[in-house]
Amino acid sequence: MYTELGKTKGTAQKPMKYIVLDLEWNQTYQEKALAVQRELESRLRGEVIQIGAVMLDESKNICGSFRTTIKPRFYKKIHRHVMRLTGIDQKQLDHGASLRDAMSAFYRFCGDDAVFLTWGPDDIPMLCDNLRANRLEAPWLCRYYDMQPMFNFDTDGAQKKQRSLEYAMEYFSIEQTLPAHDALNDAYFTALVAQKLNLAEGVRRADEAKTDRLSLFVLGDADSGEKGFTDVKSVFLAPEIASPVCPLCQETLGNGDKLLHSKGQRYLRLYTCENDGEMFTEVRLTRNINETWRAKVSVYRATEEKITRYRDKLALEKEFARKNRRRNKKTPTVKE
Ligand SMILES: [Zn+2]
Repeated sequence: MYTELGKTKGTAQKPMKYIVLDLEWNQTYQEKALAVQRELESRLRGEVIQIGAVMLDESKNICGSFRTTIKPRFYKKIHRHVMRLTGIDQKQLDHGASLRDAMSAFYRFCGDDAVFLTWGPDDIPMLCDNLRANRLEAPWLCRYYDMQPMFNFDTDGAQKKQRSLEYAMEYFSIEQTLPAHDALNDAYFTALVAQKLNLAEGVRRADEAKTDRLSLFVLGDADSGEKGFTDVKSVFLAPEIASPVCPLCQETLGNGDKLLHSKGQRYLRLYTCENDGEMFTEVRLTRNINETWRAKVSVYRATEEKITRYRDKLALEKEFARKNRRRNKKTPTVKE
C-alpha cells in the first residue's frame, strides 16, 4: 500500500554527509483540519509546501543546496498567515510539484546515507505525517537530529531551553542577509549555525540517549482518533502510566519513586524492575488541537548520572516546599 521512495543501504563507514533541512507548511482552520485528519485517520497538522536543504560535507563545508515548492492536496488554499510569513502565494502553490515528485528529487539530492539536521524537533515528524497521508514512505529520512540541544550543550551547558534560530545566529554574530521563512534561506542560516557546533559529538550524544530508551508510546492522540485527556490528573490514572510494565520483561514495575515535575509538563519517575534494574518513565504532555492533553511516554534505562540528577532535583523540590510551608506558617502569626 505504501510506496517506498529510496532505499536504506548499510552505511559502511562512509564520510558523514549532513543535510540541514527546513520546511514551510500550510495550515487550515481547525474544523477543516479535524475533518481531514478524521478522514485520513492520521495526523496532519499542516501540509508541507516547501522543502529547503543545504548539504554539508564532513568538514562542514557547504557543498549543495535544494529547494522545491509543493502543491498541497488537502489544505489547498494558502493560509493568509502562511502567505504573509513565507511570501508564497496561491499561484506558486498551484504550480508546485506533487509531494511524490518533490521527495523523489529530494532523495536524488540527499542520497541514502545522509544525516539530517533540523532546528527544533518538528520538521521531520511533520514531513513523515505528510508522507503517511500520501501513502508514501522514505526510510532514508530516519536518521535526524535536532540542533537545539547541540547548541545549548555547546554554549551554556545542558540547558533545556528551546532557543530560536535568530537567537543562535545572534550568538554567533551571523547576519540575516536573506529574508527568513523561506525554507532554503532558513536551512542556509541553520547550516551556518551548524558550522559553529561540534556536530559529530552532538550526534554521538543523541545516539547514546536513544540507545538508553526502552520504549516509547503516545496516549490520547486526538489527531489519530483517540479521545485525549481532559485534565492532567486523568493522564496519571491511565493504566499504562499508573501501573507501568517493564518493556524488557513485561513484569509490573510496582510503585516507583516520587514523581518529579519539570518545566514544560514533563514528569519523571524512577522505577526498579526486579529483573532488569532501574529505569525511568518520562511522561511529556502536549495539547491536542481540540485542547485536550496527549501524553508521550518513554521508558529508559536509568544511568547513575541520571539517577543522581533526579534525586538532586527531588531534594531541591522538597527543600523548596519546606521553606514555603514555613513561610506560610509564619505569616499569620506575625505580631505587630
Ligand atoms: Zn524487567
